[in-house]
Amino acid sequence: MKASLSPPRPLRLLVASAEVHPYSKTGGLADMVAALAKFLAKAGHRVGLVTPLYRGLRDRFAEIKPFDWELRVPLGGRTMTATVGVARPRPRLTMYFIDQPEFFDRAGLYTDHRMEYSDNPERYIFFSRCVAQLARHLPWRPEVVHLHDWHTGVAPLLIRHQEWHDAWFEAPKTCFTIHNLAYQGQAPAWKYELTNLPWYYFHADGAEFYGGLNLMKSGIAFADVVTTVSPRYAREITTPEFGCGLDGLLRARENVLTGILNGVDYEEWRTTRNPHLTHPFTPRYLAGKTAGKLALQAELGLPPRADTPLFGTISRLEDQKGVDLILGALGEMLGHDLQYVLLGSGQLHYEQGFRALAERHPAKVAVRLGYNGGLAHRIEAGCDFYLMPSRFEPCGLNQMYSLRYGTIPIVRATGGLADVVRDVREDAELANGIQFTEPTSAALAKAIRKALALYAEPDALEHYRRNGMAADFSWEATAERYEAVYRRMLGEGAD
Ligand code: ADP
Repeated sequence: MKASLSPPRPLRLLVASAEVHPYSKTGGLADMVAALAKFLAKAGHRVGLVTPLYRGLRDRFAEIKPFDWELRVPLGGRTMTATVGVARPRPRLTMYFIDQPEFFDRAGLYTDHRMEYSDNPERYIFFSRCVAQLARHLPWRPEVVHLHDWHTGVAPLLIRHQEWHDAWFEAPKTCFTIHNLAYQGQAPAWKYELTNLPWYYFHADGAEFYGGLNLMKSGIAFADVVTTVSPRYAREITTPEFGCGLDGLLRARENVLTGILNGVDYEEWRTTRNPHLTHPFTPRYLAGKTAGKLALQAELGLPPRADTPLFGTISRLEDQKGVDLILGALGEMLGHDLQYVLLGSGQLHYEQGFRALAERHPAKVAVRLGYNGGLAHRIEAGCDFYLMPSRFEPCGLNQMYSLRYGTIPIVRATGGLADVVRDVREDAELANGIQFTEPTSAALAKAIRKALALYAEPDALEHYRRNGMAADFSWEATAERYEAVYRRMLGEGAD
């Protein structure tokens, strides 16, 4: 006889991140954390999500209410206080906003006028200490704390130390997710004092890195489990080429390192009933996509031409993203009948480079510098091809958004891009994009030539589009993978 299976018990999870969509965002971290918390709550778990209360949030989100709790946090020689704001955006999900004006009521999240705040390590060590306090004192007693990126990197150590030396019985397990190993939160050694932890954790297998403090390293070294945002990136970061100096430690922790591909929140990234899109479309009704393309061309001041292939990119303009390869390849390819749109911001010389390109080719290139969430949807929907030539890419979201929007991604074969996009050489039947390998403008230009050839074959083009639109990266599956990781840590068996 089969034993009756009772549903698995809901878990109590505290998630912490420096940015959370829709409250604050500079990149994919915000999207991922928001969706993770949302889908874990939807799956029945109790979820708390901690993030800083940045400038303007109380005005933009009236639902954030004061919580009767003052955190008193030692930070080296001084004690800082913070209050907490709470919001409950959906059943079982509580947001906790750390309100500390000196640290978080600022013009930018991490930078102002392109300059990093010099006290970023202080700000996020403080934030991590608040997370540890909440983890310890929240009445619903979180059993797993899931930390994201260097900003929260010291929290696993704070929690373990209190378990070992400060009578925190049944302290929660910790999971630390690397979203981008290139940003590690490095600081001079003396800033370690802000943790008020004993110096014996400050060693080559712990928080120390070439004599300084490295917050990302602390997270990797002391968390119970380390994850990253795609299987291929999980393998890549254990090599010197991608390990950013931490590959040795990551190899040492390989037994607890897992790559879990991010999902897409298809309630937001949808081609119908999407408030950001001018024209809805579906795989059976691609005429709506063409209408959106014409509207996008008009919106950006390009001649509206349904038959001209339209390429696009939405990106931080940083070396990682290979935007220099785009500038180089377009220089070579703009003689062809094509148009290109860019939405992004970042390094000044890239912004200037794209602006100059648009000035030289006003009928072919449109550039919008800055951040614009609605326009990002319209670009994803209106373009025929999406360029993402990253030098490395932990996961990347835009290639997945492109697929859903019937826009064919052209990507460098690295990290999550390689995990998501299928090139015709890999599988002709299931092909949904174009991959190239060499990080050069010439290789990207060659991939763009392939795209132009594909565009000239409407049947093949539609085959790619339909494959892309059918691909399913829904968050339900991703959240289940994280749940399996949490249950393993808690000794609740297999995935
Ligand atoms: P990363 O996190 O490395 O910046 P991802 O592809 O993982 O790259 O995620 C980037 C996210 O930020 C996507 O949701 C993308 O649409 C968004 N994004 C980036 N730049 C802009 C911008 N200028 N305007 C609107 N959205 C942007």
